Amino acid sequence: MHKTGFYTHPSCRKHEMGVGHPECPERLDAIHDWLLATGVLDALEQHQAPQAPLADLELAHSRMHIASLRGLTDGLRDEMAAGGPCYVQIDPDTSLNIHTWDAALHAAGAALAATDAVIAGELENAFCAVRPPGHHACRDKAMGFCFFNNVAVAARYALERHGLERVAIVDFDVHHGNGTEDIVAGDPRILMASFFQHPFYPYGGAQSDAANLLNVPLPAYSKGDAVRTVVERDWLPRLHAFAPQMIFISAGFDAHRDDELGQMGLVEADYAWITRQLKAVAQRHAQGRIVSCLEGGYQLDALARSVEAHVRVLADV
Ligand SMILES: [Zn+2]
Repeated sequence: MHKTGFYTHPSCRKHEMGVGHPECPERLDAIHDWLLATGVLDALEQHQAPQAPLADLELAHSRMHIASLRGLTDGLRDEMAAGGPCYVQIDPDTSLNIHTWDAALHAAGAALAATDAVIAGELENAFCAVRPPGHHACRDKAMGFCFFNNVAVAARYALERHGLERVAIVDFDVHHGNGTEDIVAGDPRILMASFFQHPFYPYGGAQSDAANLLNVPLPAYSKGDAVRTVVERDWLPRLHAFAPQMIFISAGFDAHRDDELGQMGLVEADYAWITRQLKAVAQRHAQGRIVSCLEGGYQLDALARSVEAHVRVLADV
């Protein structure tokens, strides 16, 4: 059994935040079309993502946060019916449209379904091509293009619903996963490892003192060699010592050198290399179990090629 799942849902395309917004539906088209064109999609087991049950979202979010997003969606529906605007602004970069609620439930649901299949042994690992992304979503707050923290919800789900005792969350997005940190800091069952451009949006992460966080700031213009040093010097020893029973990846590809939302210099080969390191950790401690969820990545060609590199390693093709 060495199958890799590919989870997505059509509703993830319908959420959008206005013309010209970088976190756009075309990101998923670029990934899908490129995986199809390169033949990689044929090697994956494709699944339609279900919606996450609200009770599972509560593993990482307050009931108030969930109710607030649902209430904003209901209010928007009423306003639109009365000829009002099509978006509700959450922060300067983040807004919801009438499809955001469903898309966010399917994005988190993809991570949960992938977790079920991987723990059941039906898949070795899985990639969730979903949006909205999740790693800036805090326990009580949507921000930075994110509404529900897909990876944090799934990590807690693996612990609470499947009885795992230790899981790792690894985040290679160019931005610090402040939402994930907000949710998991101080939870000794979860080790969070990341690198991130610093100082940079969302302007935190460098002074985290919780024992289960290993978030390594890197200056702008850092390239693959700097990142590989962090992985070998910092991440791998901690990951091996922690011996996670499953690894969740916040797979953002905006540290790519062509991505204009970040100023780092990774290339496709770096994403393949990082994925190989994580896969080796998973094979040693976690029966190979990895669930990877799309986060950032905004230059469409670089995004598609980087996802290809990442998924090729996961699927061994
Ligand atoms: Zn990002």
